[in-house]
Amino acid sequence: MKFQYWLPEKEKMARCELKSFQLAALKRTITCALRTDFYNKRLKDVGINSPDDIRSLDDIRKIPFTSKYDLRAAFPYGMLATNKDDVIRLHASSGTTGIPTTIYFNRNDIDAWTALVARSIFATGCNKQDVFQNMITYGLFTGGFGFHYGAEAVGMLVIPSGSGNTSRQLRLMQDFETTVVHATPSFLLHTESKMKEEGILRDSLCLKRAFAGAEPYSEDTRLRIEELLQIEVFNSYGLSEMNGPGVAFECQCKSGMHLWEDAFLAEIIDPETLEPLPDGETGELTLTTLCREAMPILRYRTRDITSFYTEVCQCGRTHRRIHRIKGRSDDMLIINGVNIFPSQIEEVVMGIKEAGNNYLIIVEKEGFLDRLTVKTEVNPDTFRDDTRKLNVLREKIRHKLQNTITINPKVELVESNSLPVSEGKAKRVIDNRPKDV
Ligand code: AMP
Ligand code: ZN
Repeated sequence: MKFQYWLPEKEKMARCELKSFQLAALKRTITCALRTDFYNKRLKDVGINSPDDIRSLDDIRKIPFTSKYDLRAAFPYGMLATNKDDVIRLHASSGTTGIPTTIYFNRNDIDAWTALVARSIFATGCNKQDVFQNMITYGLFTGGFGFHYGAEAVGMLVIPSGSGNTSRQLRLMQDFETTVVHATPSFLLHTESKMKEEGILRDSLCLKRAFAGAEPYSEDTRLRIEELLQIEVFNSYGLSEMNGPGVAFECQCKSGMHLWEDAFLAEIIDPETLEPLPDGETGELTLTTLCREAMPILRYRTRDITSFYTEVCQCGRTHRRIHRIKGRSDDMLIINGVNIFPSQIEEVVMGIKEAGNNYLIIVEKEGFLDRLTVKTEVNPDTFRDDTRKLNVLREKIRHKLQNTITINPKVELVESNSLPVSEGKAKRVIDNRPKDV
């Protein structure tokens, strides 16, 4: 299949045309959604029995929101709108074992996703002459495959290096004259300090651009990476529930991310009242898939806090831009790009009988990377045991945590009643990372 990575007639569509396109696409999505057990019931409960019950884009407000919890409750196939035989791939949200939020794709979905990522990459000024090193996790996480397919569709030479192993990444960059990389912003900073450590000169690299995403970062961080590595950094936003990367992306103007409105219907809602907010106001981004067949999702609460730019972009694209993500409206932590809920840590700690009742989660920066420490109180009898036994216990907790949250935490065992007890709602998380967003 030949992918169209530059479609001015779509990307520069007049707003009124774009809105009629969205309405037709929303009706198709409702038809697909009615085929799923989950939405069939949900939509019929609010009187939507067919796509004809949606007459304008504002009718979206009749539809209840979908949450991560709904996706888990419908696991594994309750939200599948197609025959399982037509599904060709699944992905799952990062950091979750237990019941993951799983997304299914048919052939058209993979092609549509690829086209969105290809469009995003092309919007930054890349083309088939570029050599692209994808320094992000491949696997269930969408960042690896999403960018891989998109970059191939643009015709770039793709190096599927995956995440980590900074020395090897740098060697690959030198050997193959990499011009573009994709990574988390923290990994880009880490790479630069590794260059210094290993005496690798900037001139030995051909780097021009980086796509940075998967975690929040500030404009200052972008400028710092750009200055240190002498490259241009483009912000990339996506989430597995909406395919993964390719939801919103910066163009060469680098002022806000164009949210691809022919593929997603976006609303910004007040996370407290759940009412839609006017353009320009800050709230929670809520997204509806407009072209996904195997697994349509309606009014998904991303929990990401942002706002729309009200002015049009100088590049001429008409799809509205969102500001950098300011934070989340839930307690999810993003640690080196991996999503972690404190409740996952609690479940592990509380499942270990030698562990005491109190624990504390501490997130810090170690160099440019995030470091997670879990301090756990230990029952008095166990704490009196010899150090060897305590070491075995520490390793057991660390291992169980790593199995659950997929990243390797540092575990510290402390005496019973030594951690602070809060009077009100327990404060279990101390996030000491600089807040510069
Ligand atoms: P996942 O489903 O594992 O891909 O994680 C998606 C989440 O990562 C989003 O809901 C955001 O909270 C976060 N995220 C992804 N890209 C960005 C970005 N460019 N800026 C800030 N947060 C991001
Ligand atoms: Zn633009």
